[in-house]
Amino acid sequence: MALEWLDELAAALAHIFRVSCHVITSPLDGAFAFDPSRGQYHSTAILERLSRTASEETRLLGVSELDLFVPVLTFVFGEAQLQGPCALISLHRLREEFYGLPARPGLFLERAIKEAVHELGHTFGLRHCPNWSCVMASTHAVERLDLKSAKFCASCARIALPA
Ligand SMILES: [Zn+2]
Ligand SMILES: [Zn+2]
Repeated sequence: MALEWLDELAAALAHIFRVSCHVITSPLDGAFAFDPSRGQYHSTAILERLSRTASEETRLLGVSELDLFVPVLTFVFGEAQLQGPCALISLHRLREEFYGLPARPGLFLERAIKEAVHELGHTFGLRHCPNWSCVMASTHAVERLDLKSAKFCASCARIALPA
């Protein structure tokens, strides 16, 4: 994926979390986590490997093009360590092209931001939120992802964004 695109994602995250956020350009290689019977990559294994390079003082977000799964689900948009330093998102199913529709780059970035904020929210200890418009609402389809906002509701914000 293009570096400029990652910079846009980083800028959005810095704005939402009110912290500095920079892009590490070293590639995230998930090939080892490939499951040939599913044709997908095991999200938890990649997250585990990612966490070896993380430090407790920061948050590390892996951004992958690979189609990720966990054994109980057909796919995941991302996964995170609850209260841990690492999160992982997949861009694979966030593009309109994946669904046979014309490309919408703005919508693609918006979805990636929401998914990144959601997974990072888990790293701050947040669980899923019953408020459908909150970014911490559980979403397993892009239609639902498009309905919710990129923002934390007031009660989630108190945990993720302490004043
Ligand atoms: Zn979640
Ligand atoms: Zn919430």
